[in-house]
Amino acid sequence: MHLILVVTAAVSLISPAWAAAPINATAVCQEIAQKLSNASAVFYPGAYGLVYAADIFHHSASSSTQESVCSVEPGTAQDVARILQLVGSTRTPFAVKGGGHSWNPGFSSTPGIQIAMTRFNTVAYSKTSQYQRQAPNGVVTFGAGMVWNDIYAALDPLNITVVGGRVVGVGAAGFLLGGGYSFFSNQYGMAVDNILAFDIVQPNGTESVVTASSDPNLFWALKGGLNNFGIVTAFTMRAIPYTRVWGALVAHVNATEAYKDAFEVFNATSTDPKAAMLFGLNGIGGQSIQYAVMFYDGPEQPAGIYDAFLNIPSALVNSNGTFTMSGLLAAVNVGGLLSGGTGDQPRGQSGIVLIETYTPEIIDTVINEISINSGLLANSSSAGFGFSIEPFSPGYLTRTDPLRTSDSAFPPTWTRPYSASLCNLGFEWAGAANDAANLAALQGSVDRIQAAETKQSGMTLPTYSNLALADTPVEQLFGALNLARLTAIAKRVDPGKVMQLAGGFKV
Ligand SMILES: Cc1cc2nc3c(=O)[nH]c(=O)nc-3n(C[C@H](O)[C@H](O)[C@H](O)COP(=O)(O)OP(=O)(O)OC[C@H]3O[C@@H](n4cnc5c(N)ncnc54)[C@H](O)[C@@H]3O)c2cc1C
Repeated sequence: MHLILVVTAAVSLISPAWAAAPINATAVCQEIAQKLSNASAVFYPGAYGLVYAADIFHHSASSSTQESVCSVEPGTAQDVARILQLVGSTRTPFAVKGGGHSWNPGFSSTPGIQIAMTRFNTVAYSKTSQYQRQAPNGVVTFGAGMVWNDIYAALDPLNITVVGGRVVGVGAAGFLLGGGYSFFSNQYGMAVDNILAFDIVQPNGTESVVTASSDPNLFWALKGGLNNFGIVTAFTMRAIPYTRVWGALVAHVNATEAYKDAFEVFNATSTDPKAAMLFGLNGIGGQSIQYAVMFYDGPEQPAGIYDAFLNIPSALVNSNGTFTMSGLLAAVNVGGLLSGGTGDQPRGQSGIVLIETYTPEIIDTVINEISINSGLLANSSSAGFGFSIEPFSPGYLTRTDPLRTSDSAFPPTWTRPYSASLCNLGFEWAGAANDAANLAALQGSVDRIQAAETKQSGMTLPTYSNLALADTPVEQLFGALNLARLTAIAKRVDPGKVMQLAGGFKV
């Protein structure tokens, strides 16, 4: 219940169209069904509604999944245009879903019409392209309904990959439209830095391929500006050659100090941009659980930097190996560790704080959050809460790589302080009755970590939209200048405010 209140509070001043009751949505579903080609289909809830159920399903099943009047699976861009025309002319709330990994209710779910992009599911690699300068190793074009592990699996036999997601099941579309932090970011920047073209159906139904030269402003806006400019049907990214990657996962109980020490070793000794890691500090079932995911863009374990993690005794899990990218995601999937085993579908919410520099003081602040929340949530059916420490190399977004494509809506600038690392919070629990306590605890942790970060760096860094709480002010995501530019572009491409009928952070 409180999850819905959070979203409502975020937007109550502007009475968003996407939160309104879908008065005539059934009739609109029927009209859509009549107008679509055979490549597309409409599904309804009910005894045989398995496709419908899959279409509305979300990662955080019982908090960000919403019952829709119908789901629509478009199979062609022309059908996407027809759907946009119909929802726009009838002012019917709708949602566009890629991988369904948004934590926020209403961002890719809706009580109106759920558009599921699942039929846009092809991957193609081309060695030569019009983007030869930025993409000397070729380009990859893939459908907007795909999840990263499937994209990697298609590319693995070619020894090619792209700058994409780190966790099984995360969708490419939402990830890319928000920015995208990857295992490859220390080498190649954020995922948006590697996009060459968006195939998009604009809100007026126009189908276009948006590139840096075809429409520089819209191209810039799509790189981080979220779902405000139309429905993307395909992305083209520069191809990254690779052979195999090395990866490892370790997990322990009550080894917080050892993890802190191991991280200090990594921080002090890792200078190779091919290395990337993250580690988690968690409270699960009254226990303090730690894990670390280690990555190297090469087939061998890099010398030294990860030894301290791998040598912590009494591991619950300690595995490492050489993988394809899809194999790596399967091997280091920490999702199972966090789901708490309550027997209920977890309700959940993420939060995020950008950290300029991970000092021991900031790590101590995060460690302290485990005991604070263990106390606060002892009686609130907490399935688990975690803090993922995700360091990136200093200055990794400073555009030293001449191949990076161009400027983007997120982050607001690439120079200090925005070349930041992440502290990603994830809280999961059972039962709507416990929403308020868990959300308040999450907010408290975000505020305390943010306060420590602001005190240390002397500034407030932006917030990353893809993991931000729904009531985050939009200016905090983009900065005032970028927000003004995004708003002007949205006005140009969407004068009828069709995309305002879909939830999310609106510009
Ligand atoms: C387990 C987990 C791991 C994660 N790991 C990372 C990580 O390593 N790095 C990182 O940067 N982020 C990460 N995230 C955050 C992730 O980037 C966002 O949740 C992202 O929105 C997921 O994309 P999706 O397609 O699955 O989301 P969805 O929920 O399907 O969509 C998210 C938003 O994108 C819009 N959208 C989707 N498809 C389209 C389309 N075709 N056209 C226009 N708009 C569209 C939706 O309307 C919605 O507003 C993670 C999240 C989770 C839950």
